[in-house]
Amino acid sequence: MTLSALSSDSSAKSSNLIYDLHCHSDQSDGILSPEALVSRAKAQNVSVLALTDHDTVAGVARAQQQAQVEGLDIIPGIEFSSQWNGRGVHIVGLNIDLASPSLLSAVHQQEQQREERAHQIAEKLESMGVARAYEGARQHAPEGVVGRPHFAAYLVEQGHCKNIAQAFKKYLGAGKPGDIKQMWPELEEVVQWVLQANGTAVLAHPKKYNMTRTKLCAMVADFKEAGGQAIEVVSGKQLDADTRDIARIAQKYSLLGSCGSDFHSPGGAWQELGNFPKLPESIEPVWSSWQ
Ligand code: MN
Ligand code: MN
Ligand code: MN
Repeated sequence: MTLSALSSDSSAKSSNLIYDLHCHSDQSDGILSPEALVSRAKAQNVSVLALTDHDTVAGVARAQQQAQVEGLDIIPGIEFSSQWNGRGVHIVGLNIDLASPSLLSAVHQQEQQREERAHQIAEKLESMGVARAYEGARQHAPEGVVGRPHFAAYLVEQGHCKNIAQAFKKYLGAGKPGDIKQMWPELEEVVQWVLQANGTAVLAHPKKYNMTRTKLCAMVADFKEAGGQAIEVVSGKQLDADTRDIARIAQKYSLLGSCGSDFHSPGGAWQELGNFPKLPESIEPVWSSWQ
């Protein structure tokens, strides 16, 4: 290897390493254990993987252990739920300090929020004749927090519905009794949690919120103002035109660019780990701030 190849290899911008900075394990709503997720990432040639479970870091230590066996790097991460003008927005925290007291209290607060909502959903379902709804759903979520998919599984198991889709259509989907709105903290507060944990705050999958471009830019401006540092320019299954548009927004607001699959489970619905286009050349990668 020539010296110039060596130096260009070590430069973050021209690196050919595959970074996947957004994915889920069974510690939130993913299917794979943290260990299986890391092995799968390795098989997909991922060099640097951020585990970003919803509102929990429970899987990170296990992922780090497995990564030592497999020989890849784990970035400790999390995907926080927040709200902006009453709309749900997801903030990914990357390279966070797992021992940070503010991170631990933030995780605890989010968990309480989810638990409270689970009990509210259970109450609604019980009033519709579903017995022991909380306990039943809990059985389908041995590790994580109880959410609507677990209630759906219980409804099917108990014969209230034929399948998961019907459970959402009748009980849990938009406008149905079990569709309890979650009161997430404001975007600004969540960005602060990430910064206090010495992490990098990343606006997740900007094209998933179905906002007009004007609204999206207003949200990005507030995110930047709150201390947000990066935006997911490449996210999962995304149109190239959307990638180009987010790249323009990243430049307009001087944000670093992140990329990730948002992988939840093997199969058709989700993008495969590490399997997405590179960040556009014009974008400064989020990992350049870590070196
Ligand atoms: Mn999810
Ligand atoms: Mn998300
Ligand atoms: Mn996600």
